Amino acid sequence: MHVRGSSRKLEIEEEKLLELRPNCELCDCDLPPASAEARICSYECTYCAECVGSVLQNVCPTCGGGFAPRPMRPRTSWRANKPLGLGFHLASTVRHYSPFSLEDIKAHVDRIKSFNPQDR
Ligand SMILES: [Zn+2]
Ligand SMILES: [Zn+2]
Repeated sequence: MHVRGSSRKLEIEEEKLLELRPNCELCDCDLPPASAEARICSYECTYCAECVGSVLQNVCPTCGGGFAPRPMRPRTSWRANKPLGLGFHLASTVRHYSPFSLEDIKAHVDRIKSFNPQDR
Protein backbone atom coordinates (compact mmCIF):
# COMPACT_ATOMS: atom_id res chain seq x y z
CA MET A 1 0.00 0.00 0.00
CA HIS A 2 1.39 3.40 -0.95
CA VAL A 3 0.09 6.57 0.61
CA ARG A 4 1.44 9.84 -0.64
CA GLY A 5 1.60 13.43 0.50
CA SER A 6 -0.02 14.70 3.66
CA SER A 7 -1.63 11.37 4.49
CA ARG A 8 1.73 9.62 4.61
CA LYS A 9 1.77 9.74 8.39
CA LEU A 10 -1.23 7.40 8.44
CA GLU A 11 0.81 4.59 7.01
CA ILE A 12 2.24 2.30 9.63
CA GLU A 13 5.21 0.16 8.82
CA GLU A 14 4.34 -3.45 9.56
CA GLU A 15 7.61 -4.15 11.34
CA LYS A 16 6.87 -1.44 13.90
CA LEU A 17 3.55 -2.93 14.89
CA LEU A 18 3.02 -5.05 17.93
CA GLU A 19 3.07 -8.62 16.66
CA LEU A 20 -0.09 -10.38 17.81
CA ARG A 21 1.29 -13.89 18.13
CA PRO A 22 -1.21 -16.74 18.01
CA ASN A 23 -0.07 -18.95 20.87
CA CYS A 24 1.56 -19.27 24.27
CA GLU A 25 5.26 -20.02 23.74
CA LEU A 26 5.24 -22.46 26.64
CA CYS A 27 1.98 -24.48 26.67
CA ASP A 28 1.02 -23.68 23.04
CA CYS A 29 -2.58 -22.75 23.86
CA ASP A 30 -4.28 -20.46 21.35
CA LEU A 31 -4.20 -16.73 22.07
CA PRO A 32 -6.36 -15.05 19.44
CA PRO A 33 -6.25 -11.22 19.13
CA ALA A 34 -9.26 -10.74 21.44
CA SER A 35 -7.98 -13.10 24.13
CA ALA A 36 -7.98 -11.63 27.62
CA GLU A 37 -5.44 -14.29 28.60
CA ALA A 38 -2.53 -13.08 26.45
CA ARG A 39 0.49 -11.60 28.21
CA ILE A 40 3.54 -10.02 26.59
CA CYS A 41 6.97 -8.86 27.70
CA SER A 42 8.57 -5.73 26.26
CA TYR A 43 10.05 -7.82 23.41
CA GLU A 44 6.63 -9.25 22.52
CA CYS A 45 7.39 -12.70 23.90
CA THR A 46 3.86 -14.02 24.35
CA TYR A 47 2.49 -16.36 26.99
CA CYS A 48 -0.86 -17.15 28.54
CA ALA A 49 -1.90 -15.78 31.93
CA GLU A 50 -1.87 -19.29 33.38
CA CYS A 51 1.80 -19.89 32.49
CA VAL A 52 2.84 -16.37 33.55
CA GLY A 53 1.18 -16.87 36.94
CA SER A 54 2.45 -20.37 37.58
CA VAL A 55 5.66 -21.63 35.97
CA LEU A 56 6.96 -18.21 34.93
CA GLN A 57 6.02 -16.19 38.03
CA ASN A 58 6.11 -13.04 35.94
CA VAL A 59 9.62 -13.71 34.60
CA CYS A 60 10.05 -13.87 30.83
CA PRO A 61 12.03 -17.05 29.99
CA THR A 62 13.96 -15.15 27.34
CA CYS A 63 14.67 -11.62 28.61
CA GLY A 64 13.85 -11.92 32.32
CA GLY A 65 11.42 -8.99 32.21
CA GLY A 66 7.89 -8.86 33.56
CA PHE A 67 4.64 -9.22 31.65
CA ALA A 68 1.61 -7.06 30.92
CA PRO A 69 -1.77 -7.89 29.39
CA ARG A 70 -1.56 -7.69 25.60
CA PRO A 71 -3.66 -4.84 24.22
CA MET A 72 -6.51 -5.92 21.98
CA ARG A 73 -6.34 -4.56 18.45
CA PRO A 74 -9.83 -3.49 17.36
CA ARG A 75 -11.62 -5.49 14.67
CA THR A 76 -13.16 -2.37 13.24
CA SER A 77 -11.51 0.57 11.49
CA TRP A 78 -13.18 3.30 13.54
CA ARG A 79 -11.73 6.31 11.69
CA ALA A 80 -12.79 6.69 8.09
CA ASN A 81 -9.42 8.06 6.94
CA LYS A 82 -7.23 5.84 9.09
CA PRO A 83 -6.66 2.28 7.89
CA LEU A 84 -6.35 0.71 11.32
CA GLY A 85 -7.59 -2.41 13.06
CA LEU A 86 -7.32 -6.12 12.38
CA GLY A 87 -8.73 -5.75 8.87
CA PHE A 88 -5.64 -3.78 7.90
CA HIS A 89 -3.09 -5.17 10.32
CA LEU A 90 -3.67 -8.88 10.70
CA ALA A 91 -2.70 -10.93 13.69
CA SER A 92 0.34 -13.12 13.10
CA THR A 93 -0.20 -16.80 12.31
CA VAL A 94 3.41 -17.77 13.06
CA ARG A 95 3.51 -19.88 16.21
CA HIS A 96 6.48 -19.32 18.48
CA TYR A 97 7.96 -21.85 20.90
CA SER A 98 10.36 -21.16 23.72
CA PRO A 99 13.80 -22.58 22.85
CA PHE A 100 14.50 -23.26 26.52
CA SER A 101 13.81 -26.49 28.40
CA LEU A 102 11.41 -26.45 31.34
CA GLU A 103 14.32 -27.24 33.67
CA ASP A 104 16.28 -24.28 32.31
CA ILE A 105 13.26 -21.98 32.59
CA LYS A 106 12.68 -22.95 36.23
CA ALA A 107 16.30 -22.19 37.15
CA HIS A 108 16.09 -18.87 35.29
CA VAL A 109 12.85 -17.95 37.07
CA ASP A 110 14.28 -18.89 40.48
CA ARG A 111 17.24 -16.60 39.87
CA ILE A 112 15.13 -13.57 38.91
CA LYS A 113 11.66 -13.79 40.47
CA SER A 114 12.58 -12.08 43.76
CA PHE A 115 13.43 -8.86 41.92
CA ASN A 116 10.52 -6.62 41.03
CA PRO A 117 10.33 -6.03 37.26
CA GLN A 118 11.36 -2.38 37.75
CA ASP A 119 14.55 -3.53 39.52
CA ARG A 120 15.70 -6.23 37.11
ZN1 LIG B 1 0.69 -21.04 28.45
ZN1 LIG C 1 10.95 -11.30 27.04
